[in-house]
Order: sequence, then structure tokens, then C-alpha cells
Amino acid sequence: MKTNLIYNTAVYLRLSREDGDRLESDSIANQQALIEAYLNSHSEFRLYKVYADRNHTGTNYDRPNFKAMMTDITSGKVNCVIVKDLSRLGREYIDTGRYLLSIFPAHNTRFIAINDGVDTNDTSTMDFIRLHFKNLINDMYCGDTSLKVRSILQMKCKNGEFVSAFAPYGYIKNPENKNHLIVDETVRSVIIDIFNWKLSGMSALRIAEKLNSLGIASPMEHKRELGIKYNYCFRKNTTAKWDAKSVNRILQNKVYIGTLEQSKTTTPNYKIKVRSEKPKDEWITVENCHEAIIEKDLFEQIGRLLKEDTRVSENNSYVYPLSSILKCSECGGNMTRKTVTSGGKKYVYYVCINNKTKNGCTNKTVFSVDKLDKIVLEALNSHINSFIMLNKLSEYILTLPYRTREIEKLNTQKDRCEEKIEQIKKYKLSLYEDYTNGFIDSEDYKDFTARYNEEIETNRQIIANLTTEADIIAENKQGSLETLKKFAANGEITALTREAAVSLIDKVAVVDKKHISVSFKFQSQLDTLSSYIQRSPDFQNSEMAVI
Ligand SMILES: [Zn+2]
Repeated sequence: MKTNLIYNTAVYLRLSREDGDRLESDSIANQQALIEAYLNSHSEFRLYKVYADRNHTGTNYDRPNFKAMMTDITSGKVNCVIVKDLSRLGREYIDTGRYLLSIFPAHNTRFIAINDGVDTNDTSTMDFIRLHFKNLINDMYCGDTSLKVRSILQMKCKNGEFVSAFAPYGYIKNPENKNHLIVDETVRSVIIDIFNWKLSGMSALRIAEKLNSLGIASPMEHKRELGIKYNYCFRKNTTAKWDAKSVNRILQNKVYIGTLEQSKTTTPNYKIKVRSEKPKDEWITVENCHEAIIEKDLFEQIGRLLKEDTRVSENNSYVYPLSSILKCSECGGNMTRKTVTSGGKKYVYYVCINNKTKNGCTNKTVFSVDKLDKIVLEALNSHINSFIMLNKLSEYILTLPYRTREIEKLNTQKDRCEEKIEQIKKYKLSLYEDYTNGFIDSEDYKDFTARYNEEIETNRQIIANLTTEADIIAENKQGSLETLKKFAANGEITALTREAAVSLIDKVAVVDKKHISVSFKFQSQLDTLSSYIQRSPDFQNSEMAVI
């Protein structure tokens, strides 16, 4: 329908050595020749002018002839732009997208990138471009470079700035910087108590009751005490008490380990005010934003406790030491407590929870609670003893020079992984260029991108492992053996407590009446420590090596 329309056409050429335009085909003369051939075979274009920028990089649009062309577009002298390929327009994909999707259309200007098959008059290519740039922005610019396309609020979240209207219970806004949280000292101990009570086996309900009986103001009441104007419309005359929900909310909030999880909700668009919850992987999470109240180790233990289906006893306030840790080795189900009374005597035993069901588990082992708890306690103590021994050895043997050397070695390995990640990121970017230049097709593009992402993930995992190892040798305070050290400080433990069980044991599997297997949470760290000790030159030369 637009066949009779004649386009006043701008031909845009760009060459830059910095961009790696070393190919002969990218020379100005070649770009021009290709476009001229195109113009000659299409009658609807009338050449208005050739605009050429030499030695101007594609990463900004501050190029004299590009600007001259834009002026001519704005004043209506030009209504069509032709380039050899998209990268002539620019190498910043987001900006390029902006020109294609909004600036050119706003001036009724047709845009053609010959080698990429892009023509903005063709709606199907436009759909492709739109989709393509959207994916690209989501995929490649999820790091810092995407900040310009995200809102300022999201940018603040990414910088670890606190953006909500009210500080969470346990914190107040820093009077000098409202985007920064500081600990509310008046309730610091309450938070710590809640976590410790949970660890000792108390249920959330029991904790709430205890807090109420101690007369401690609930988060909502505390907010009122602090004089924060808050909307109380639905509970004007009642005093808000602690309940299981408010306790659980605290136990799960990463704010207490210094982490901010923000941007959790979204509005579908600016017209709709209803907010909806975003999937967790879209939240913006930043660590070390403010002072932690709870240690990370403890927080993670509690998280594990909450996730598990803890079986709470009749009075709803006590969790048995091995609840949800004790599993059936055959079906993986929980072993549950049963009580029978026979001849006036009470027997308490463990049995697989799937034992009685129709197509139930065939593991019929019945284990007396007292006996099993005693065996687990013994295993736990031998674990603690081996740690005490290793720890003593490490004090003698892991001398400072050796320690430092080992840590340096690990750090070098870590650096190498970081470099690799950076390299892969660069590959990913050039991959897109190859794609737009037609060197690879979209299948390959997707394929390679997936492979690169996988490689990045692998390297990140290695870095995490190396960090743990370095922490162990460095006896880092945040290191993962701190928990074990805490228990070892008092020597052997005399009773199997819930705290000791969840802190140190991963799983106890009941095989049969004679066999159980205990997996300890820090076994691999102990193995790491042990192997470092054995490798150290001092150990090799010492008498202890013979033992
Ligand atoms: Zn079973």
C-alpha cells in the first residue's frame, strides 16, 4: 500500500578500530558499496545524504555525523535510515533498541539494517526485534549494566538501600540516612531469645505465649510505642499480642542476618494499584546491608527446622531432640514416637511412619527411644572428641606460615575462577554480535548462551567451595566450624538436647535393630581440616604422623 511512497533516505556508515572493525567488509567503502547496491535495486528510496563517522565507537551516540542525521530526521528532511548491520547504529544494545523501538517510530522514520534483515516497515520483523531486545535485556543485562533500564527504586534495592516505609521489628531507620537500618537496641535481646528458644525445641506458639506472659510488646505494639504513625484502622481498641504467625515471620526474616530482600511485589501496570507477590528468584537480595542481630549459622539451622515437618508432642510446646532428623533408611520417611502400656509399664519406641499404611514400608524395626537416643548421644560425643583432637593438632601444626601459604593458594585458585567468569561474560557479549552479524543462527545463539551460563554457575560453585575451605584453615570467625567449637568448648555432652541434635546432626537413619547411620553436618569440614593437617610439613616430620 506504500509502494508509491518515496523515502528520503539517509545512509549511515560507521567505522571504529576500537570496536574491532578489522574486517575488510566493515570498511567505509564496503559499507557504502553494499548500501548503494541495495538502493539501486529498490526504487522507493531517494538518497538524501551519506553520513559517515570514522573512529567513533559504537558505545555512545555522541558522534558528529550521527547527530547531524538525527537533526535532519527531526526536521523532517529524512524519513528513512539505512545501515549495513545493526552494530553500525551502535553497540549498546539497549540504546540501539531505544532507537529502533521508540525514537525512529516517533519520527515516522523507517529503519533498515540490510544484513540483519531488519526493516521497521515490516511488522513481523518488528515483533521479532521487540521480543529479541526484551530477552536480551533480561538475559544479558541482569548485572549492574542493566541499571539504566530499571527504575530508580530497583536501583536502590540493588545497592542494598532500605526502601520500605517502615523498618522491620528489631531495626529503626538511621536518622542520618533513611535508607539504612540500625539495630533497635530496645528489642535486640527479644530477637535473640526468639531464635534461641526455637533452637531449644520450643514451638512458635509456645514462644508467642512466653513473650506475652513476659509482657513484651508485640511488633505492632512496639511500633506504636516508637510513635510510628501506622494504620490501625482494623484493630483500634485491641492490643495486638504475639502469635505463632508473628514469631514465625521473625524466624524467617533474613533482615536479622544483615540481608535485605526487597522488591518482593509488583504491580501489573501503572493503572492497577493491586500489588502481587513476585516469585522468590525475582526478589532483590543484598547481603551485609546493615548490622546482623543473628549469626548466619543459627539462622540457617532455624530455617532447616522450620522447613521440616517437625512433629510436635501433645502439649504443643516441646519438640523431641530427634524429631524430623530420625529417618527410616528404607523409605526415607520420618521415624515417629509411639507409646504402649503393657502390664502397667510404659514403653516408648520409634517406628517408621509409613509402617502401618496399606502399601507401607517393609522396615518393621522398632527401636526403644531410650536406647536409640543413647546410641546417638555416643556417636555425637565421638564426633565432638575427634573435632577436639583435630583442633588441638591444628593449633600445633597449622603454623602461621603454612596456614598463610595454603590460604594464598586457595585465593589464587579463586582468582582464576573469577577471571574465567569475566572471560565467559565477554564471550557472551560477543556471541550476540556474532548472532546479529549472521555468523551464527538463533539456535546456536541459545545453545551457546546456555552453555556459557552453565560454565559460570560451575565456577561460582567452585569459588563457594574454595571459600569454605579457606575459612576452615583460617579459623575464620564466620567459618563453618564455629558451631562445633561452641559445643566442644565444654567437652562431652551429657544429654541429647534438641539444640545439639539440630546443630550437629544432619540425619539419623535406622537400618534395622542393630544398625543406624548418623550423618554429621560438619563431617566434610572435619575431613578438610584433617587432610590439611596431614599434608602440612610439620605433621609429616612429627612423631604424630606415625600414630
Ligand atoms: Zn520406612
